[in-house]
Amino acid sequence: MKICSNCILPETFPGISFNTHGICNHCQEFDNKKERLADEKKRYRQKFLNLLDQLIQSDQLSKRSYDILMAYSGGKDSTYIMSLFKNQYKLRILAVSFDNGFISDTALSNIKKVTNRLDIDHIFFKPRWEVLRKIFIAAAEKELYPPKTLERASTICTSCMGIVKSLCLKIAIEMDIPLVGYGWSPGQAPIQSSIMKNNPSLLRMSQQVILNPLREIVGDEIKAYFLHEKHYLNHEFPYNIHPMAWEFYDEDVILKEIQKIGWIAPTDTDSNSTNCLLNAFANRVHLQKYGFHPYVWEIANMVRRGDMSRENGYTKIYTNQDNKQVEYARRILESQ
Ligand SMILES: [Zn+2]
Repeated sequence: MKICSNCILPETFPGISFNTHGICNHCQEFDNKKERLADEKKRYRQKFLNLLDQLIQSDQLSKRSYDILMAYSGGKDSTYIMSLFKNQYKLRILAVSFDNGFISDTALSNIKKVTNRLDIDHIFFKPRWEVLRKIFIAAAEKELYPPKTLERASTICTSCMGIVKSLCLKIAIEMDIPLVGYGWSPGQAPIQSSIMKNNPSLLRMSQQVILNPLREIVGDEIKAYFLHEKHYLNHEFPYNIHPMAWEFYDEDVILKEIQKIGWIAPTDTDSNSTNCLLNAFANRVHLQKYGFHPYVWEIANMVRRGDMSRENGYTKIYTNQDNKQVEYARRILESQ
């Protein structure tokens, strides 16, 4: 299989083309922007500091119990970002962890240890298993969302993350928290979206994209995890913040930093997750159906940006997955 000699996108990736040097169209486009990336990072970091100043000056923070709701998976990236929010940006944090029934035991103990060590208030949210099981099984069997989403993540991941994002936003609105923090890797979401005020009309549309197909599967119960009409009437919508886009990124440095607060790398997850035991199965299903790995876009972005070596990225994507992990998730989903 032909693979871009600069990043790691394969010829099976939708819409890809290669020049005579075997470099893909995405790398060729990126070449023009590369120079600007360092400046962009500085600019966005400053933009975040300005936003915090603005919230402090308008007295918005002092009236509230928390500055930021952190979507905390217990994985390495969200652990690192949460520690930055606490120690570097001095924010008052409410951490929310979504239990999809597949959190690795090591990740669960990481969640407890890290929230204790950082001294952070924390909520676990676990939807009913029957609801999640139906969604995961349907997501493994059919396409639920627009084709573009398949280039970015597996249908199982998109379903889970769709619920996580709307739930975190819903809790933030209800608890009057002005910021929602995510640990998206620098390859998952572009820097332009790293500080983004939620906009009710856009939000209404993006919620429907996930909510409607899920309602087909589990009925109106799904509405418990999504915004209701009353939430849209809220006058102040929270900002979504994902600092990995502008912070220094190096996997080894991140791992060293979070080990200092008690985080331990799980040994039972696949090479692209440090918390979820469903991921290996979700990846396998996607790879078999579409011919490319659901993480390849994210990892290729990081390789291209210089956040990860090509060798490391290649290993993450093109190493065969452990069948045991895939079968474990399949068994759990099939058992009543
Ligand atoms: Zn490329």
